[in-house]
Amino acid sequence: MNIEILPEVREKIMYWVEKCPREISGLGKVIHNKGSMLITSAHLLNQENTAASTEIDAADVGRLEYETRDEEGALNFWWHSHVDMDVYWSVTDMSTIHEFGDNGWCLAGVFNKKNEQRFAYYQGGSSFYPPAWSDAIDVKIRMGGHKVESWDKEYDERVKTPVPIVYNKQNGYGAWKKTKNKKKNKNHHRITYSWQELLDLGLSWTSADWDIESQCWKVWDSNTGIWRYCDE
Ligand SMILES: [Zn+2]
Repeated sequence: MNIEILPEVREKIMYWVEKCPREISGLGKVIHNKGSMLITSAHLLNQENTAASTEIDAADVGRLEYETRDEEGALNFWWHSHVDMDVYWSVTDMSTIHEFGDNGWCLAGVFNKKNEQRFAYYQGGSSFYPPAWSDAIDVKIRMGGHKVESWDKEYDERVKTPVPIVYNKQNGYGAWKKTKNKKKNKNHHRITYSWQELLDLGLSWTSADWDIESQCWKVWDSNTGIWRYCDE
């Protein structure tokens, strides 16, 4: 299940979560399309919140349903905050999720002031299929538009994937030809070897692994139980 939330919707929820010293809750719209969901809005319900729990006012859900009737999507996203407590589903939360989802479905999100979040999807059962529950769903922030294009440009300029060294037959056995200058990690003070030295130690380049951290090749020396790094 692919679920995303619009960045401004998450920002709005987190603003209210930060602002309110007690639990706060509301509903939002979800656009459901071919197995993927997009959370497109968040609204507040009338509430007199106590420190411990937020009671949902059924009449106010009707009010919100009416006021958001022109917004695309279904009003099936129920969100609330746990203030400074961990994000989990309390007994009260579970009964609220059932109230919303027993005759359909409910996408629930719980947030806290530590910037943590947790999402779950519940779908009520019928005489044909059992109820469905999916917890700790990875909900990604939907990104798009012009600003992302410039972020992508900066990323592509600065973040390079290591180019593997390829074996060059012309240089003979054990000789490797770099296709690109590799960067040495200056913080690593370790003994490095040439390929010839590794061959002299009885180690074969065929068992070499690319070390992402050091940006160089390494060979496992089973005689001594250490990695030997190549500086060529
Ligand atoms: Zn809760």
